[in-house]
Amino acid sequence: MSSTNTTQTCALCSKEATLRCSGCGDSPEYRLGDALDTFYCSRACQREHRPTHKSRCKAKGLRVKLGRAVIMLRLGMLTYREIFYDLNLTKVESRDDVLFLHHKEPKPGASFKFRPFPNHLVTNWVIQHAVLCHNQSIAAIALLGRLARKLFPDAGVPCTLETLDLHLGNFGVCTRTVPGPEHTNIIHTVIKVTLSFPPNIATEPEAWVIDPAGCQYGTPILAPYEEYIAAHKCRILNGPSAYTATETTDVDDFQSLLELSPHSEILNEMQNWDSQRWLLERRARMKFAAWVDEGSGYHVWKRALDGTSHEWLEKLRASKSVIRRFLLTR
Ligand SMILES: [Zn+2]
Ligand SMILES: [Zn+2]
Repeated sequence: MSSTNTTQTCALCSKEATLRCSGCGDSPEYRLGDALDTFYCSRACQREHRPTHKSRCKAKGLRVKLGRAVIMLRLGMLTYREIFYDLNLTKVESRDDVLFLHHKEPKPGASFKFRPFPNHLVTNWVIQHAVLCHNQSIAAIALLGRLARKLFPDAGVPCTLETLDLHLGNFGVCTRTVPGPEHTNIIHTVIKVTLSFPPNIATEPEAWVIDPAGCQYGTPILAPYEEYIAAHKCRILNGPSAYTATETTDVDDFQSLLELSPHSEILNEMQNWDSQRWLLERRARMKFAAWVDEGSGYHVWKRALDGTSHEWLEKLRASKSVIRRFLLTR
């Protein structure tokens, strides 16, 4: 149990309580009110209440782990993008819920190169994440496949992972490159997670959406499935289908699509990619995959899934530096 400053009501005897059950604190909310923390006035009350609380506590504990694994997935993607950034960004401007990403286009004939993300141009981290996620819906799903399939079992979260192509009818913000194409038809790919609880936890399966590149539209990284679909007026275009994407699935798909229908609208932006770009993108993705497979520093990631909420932020910082080091030095 952890001590808090606020006074709550004991779940057993209704007296004033300051001890919070740490097994299930900070859980993401699935249904209204079901994430409220549980408090006790004493260890004796906690012990006596355990048989009643146990099932709910374990279910919420799994949600806590789900939430952490999801944040780590995004951390992996954002760190990758910070190192392998594709635009020569000069200014970020926010107007009427649109983030304009001003960038210098490469000179004709100049070969493509990644550059480190210019952190000094964007100090607000919400905007920074949105800029990093620009145009990454499909790329993020590919990049993170291998990590997701490893991280969730390692977190002890029993779930199935599927992907879903959506049309977002409602979103908070959007990003646009200047110069760049106007995006009229937004196709957004997300991960659908179905949490199936072990038989000793008497709780119905829960469906969630993980939206790793949603920062560009102001959509949440994790939300209950029904809530997400309704809030963003989503039309389902494809799926759910098993999450089998590997780190280069999108690169492979785009390349073969380009050969088949070189004037498709979706491919507008991609058509500008020269062969050097494809090569470097592929190489960077393979590096990320190598980190997941080799597990250099992965034990740090695994440890971050457990532990108290106090330790969590510290562990997250350590997790970022191990993957960053790997991606930069190898
Ligand atoms: Zn009590
Ligand atoms: Zn609990």
